[in-house]
Amino acid sequence: MNIRNIAVFCGSSKGYNQIYAEQAALLGKHFAKNKIGLIYGGGKVGLMGILANAVLQNKGEVTGVIPHLLKHEEVAHTALTKMIYTKKMSKRKIKISRLADAYIALPGGFGTLDELFEALTLNQLGIETKPVGILNINGYFDHTLEQLDAMCKEGFLNNTNKKLLLVENSVEELMKLLHNFTSKKTKSVIHKITS
Ligand code: AMP
Repeated sequence: MNIRNIAVFCGSSKGYNQIYAEQAALLGKHFAKNKIGLIYGGGKVGLMGILANAVLQNKGEVTGVIPHLLKHEEVAHTALTKMIYTKKMSKRKIKISRLADAYIALPGGFGTLDELFEALTLNQLGIETKPVGILNINGYFDHTLEQLDAMCKEGFLNNTNKKLLLVENSVEELMKLLHNFTSKKTKSVIHKITS
């Protein structure tokens, strides 16, 4: 599929291991070199800032979408290609989804997982049909993936929907998965476990 803009969800922290920052920077470089626009939360802190700076340093385009609330926290990046301010967090999510052709999550905390699982839920319901991937840097998401297995085992998630989450540990391989993604429409919301 033709992917021009990707929304990336990632930590407002950097994590302890340097590998998270290195891989975030590598993803940013890949976007710039391949003319993929970055859409993200607009922060200058943590992996968010590292990713945005890597795209900009390699002459790529970055759009931040940030609620006014966080602007006042002085965490907003001030040198992006474009910054869009929204009234609320919920409006920010809608705006990001309008701009993005695909989603990637890098390691992060509550905010990152909230955004990742919302993107997956929209796909599961057939409201969106965009590829959603995680870059499993340093096996960071291994426990999350174990949780998904447990959800399947206990009958709260079916295998078809589990496969909506694309997983790779290298930037190049993850990007190939996103480009090759073809959506399989779920039949109906109520069949999501039983079918
Ligand atoms: P977390 O994973 O909890 O650090 O939250 C990061 C995610 O939530 C990002 O993808 C952002 O969209 C959003 N977010 C959290 N904190 C900030 C911040 N200080 N500035 C901008 N966005 C943030």
